[in-house]
Amino acid sequence: MDAEASAQLRRRVMAAGTSGAGRCRLSKVGAGRRPPPARVRVAVRLRPFVDGTVGASDPPCVRGMDSCSLEIANWRNHQETLKYQFDAFYGERSTQQDIYAGSVQPILRHLLEGQNASVLAYGPTGAGKTHTMLGSPEQPGVIPRALMDLLQLTREEGAEGRPWALSVTMSYLEIYQEKVLDLLDSASGDLVIREDCRGNILIPGLTQKPITSFADFERHFLPASRNRTVGATRLNQRSSRSHAVLLVKVDQRERLAPFRQREGKLYLIDLAGSEDNRRTGNKGLRLKESGAINTSLFVLGKVVDALNQGLPRVPYRDSKLTRLLQDSLGGSAHSILIANIAPERRFYLDTVSALNFAARSKEVINRPFTNESLQLHVLAPVKLSQKELLGPSEAKRARGPEGEEIGSPEPTEAPASASQKLSPLQKLSSMDPAMLERLLSLDRLLGSQGSQGAPLLSTPRRERMVLMKTVEEKDLEIERLKMKQKELEAKVLAQEAVDPKEKENCSPTVLRPLSHRTVTVARPLKKAVVMPLQLIQEQAASPNTEIHILKNKGRKRKLESLDASEPEGKAEDCWELQISPELLAHGRQKILDLLNEGSARDLRSLQRIGPKKAQLIVGWRELHGPFSQVEDLERVEGITGKQMESFLKANILGLAAGQRCGPS
Ligand code: ADP
Ligand code: MG
Repeated sequence: MDAEASAQLRRRVMAAGTSGAGRCRLSKVGAGRRPPPARVRVAVRLRPFVDGTVGASDPPCVRGMDSCSLEIANWRNHQETLKYQFDAFYGERSTQQDIYAGSVQPILRHLLEGQNASVLAYGPTGAGKTHTMLGSPEQPGVIPRALMDLLQLTREEGAEGRPWALSVTMSYLEIYQEKVLDLLDSASGDLVIREDCRGNILIPGLTQKPITSFADFERHFLPASRNRTVGATRLNQRSSRSHAVLLVKVDQRERLAPFRQREGKLYLIDLAGSEDNRRTGNKGLRLKESGAINTSLFVLGKVVDALNQGLPRVPYRDSKLTRLLQDSLGGSAHSILIANIAPERRFYLDTVSALNFAARSKEVINRPFTNESLQLHVLAPVKLSQKELLGPSEAKRARGPEGEEIGSPEPTEAPASASQKLSPLQKLSSMDPAMLERLLSLDRLLGSQGSQGAPLLSTPRRERMVLMKTVEEKDLEIERLKMKQKELEAKVLAQEAVDPKEKENCSPTVLRPLSHRTVTVARPLKKAVVMPLQLIQEQAASPNTEIHILKNKGRKRKLESLDASEPEGKAEDCWELQISPELLAHGRQKILDLLNEGSARDLRSLQRIGPKKAQLIVGWRELHGPFSQVEDLERVEGITGKQMESFLKANILGLAAGQRCGPS
């Protein structure tokens, strides 16, 4: 294609583009919204008999029924036909403009929404793929028409005063024998296909040419196409065995806050001829050869089948083409497959194969989404802080569900309230200044999002910040409580110093120091106090008699308190009574009198003296006379020394061994 031809192409494209009845104005609709799942659209184009085709006079083996369906003779049964229905069917008389306006132009608008789109021309060699995609100067195809419209649109949308600045770049490559070759740089070798962290497919090192006009496009595209043509001549059928991929990227940058950035990719693909792989039914070595010749196309069929069957593994990585188209088939793109077929009988089997592949492809579901982020130069400082603040796994999780990056559009213009917001973070002052600065940046970022930043507020980063603030606030609260406690302790001590006696009458509202843990004193056991009856009687009879009560230190219960300053407040509860010697002597005499003068009945009032012992005592007294001392009881027959001791203890000491007083 020389300069004159290209100029002619441009004129024709522009004329066709502006006069086409189906031309619609592209507009940015639904930006930012996630569209519903989009099925891969499939159109079939039947080319006319071309001049010089052998058998042109034969009746066609395929014919259209309406704008969406066609039928083809059934080679197994000549009495019937095979019928197919697609999204669109374009017959022999359809024009380039019909194809473009009907099936391609509608999906271009998605590029300006930051979404991807792809157009694939499929079919056997000679069926019209290149004609459909590239066309001729007289009949420009999908590629020049799409570029024309896209460039026009980006000029309008990206004009000064509009919210978005738009730029377009193009790359052109071919996949031949599983090698990715840069057609804009003939010196480049096989390129690798990679996937970034957001699932975008990219080819590092692939030439990207910025284009602002259709002339720009031609300047890069036409020589590259000529290279391919030369290659085809030299390498024998290379062009029909390679996939030509034109990649057009539409990059959008928001001029005002929040400075979003969108990227839409358009793949325009002229696939290799499909005839060999579809028709041969080769097995073993022949199949391997066929796979080697055109692996990409073979795998493309497997990918489509896997997607349709919902298999867990889709073999995208089994070929360069499918890897490249990963986000176009079953991925994020609005895709249209144009299956090109020829009317001649000699194409019959290839046509049936192509139609079957097309029918399978229309079941594939894509899920296009907006590829939006914030501009990198704005994000830079914030990104650093995010990396510092979050672990790699958290950073990954923090990305939006559609791979959105989140950052501050204005990190340098901090709102005055930013630092105030962080004021509760007093402890941050002891942090590394760089880290503090990053925290401030992040806080500004969060603050600057305002109501528009609703998604950001729910990110782990925000939660992390909230958590940090909460921790700091809790620390401050604990500090405050400690201070208050110290104040109260000081107050208590001061009060005790002024009037130690009042310490037990301290107001209950005044807290005692928490550091002194008091263990509850076990309640003393309730025990009956056994008193000599005579003593009790005498006490009752002589209330003025002095009763000596001694503290029995050996039997004093220990006050179980850890508080050294605990007053001995309840110590008296545990004092034990002990009868004084005078009182004991007095009691002894009284008992001796009773033993000598009391009747048997009187004697039974004594402890340990039952009726039997009382009779023994009375009998002994009658025989031997009065007792000279209480201990003489031992001489009474039937009373042992041990019983006598027990009698003394019970009646004179008044307290049985181990018995003690206490509150009852
Ligand atoms: P393919 O790329 O599939 O191998 P081509 O696009 O090269 O096939 O088409 C083969 C021949 O058929 C070319 O000479 C082309 O000009 C012609 N041709 C294809 N489609 C049409 C059409 N719709 N109208 C007129 N000529 C066509
Ligand atoms: Mg071709």
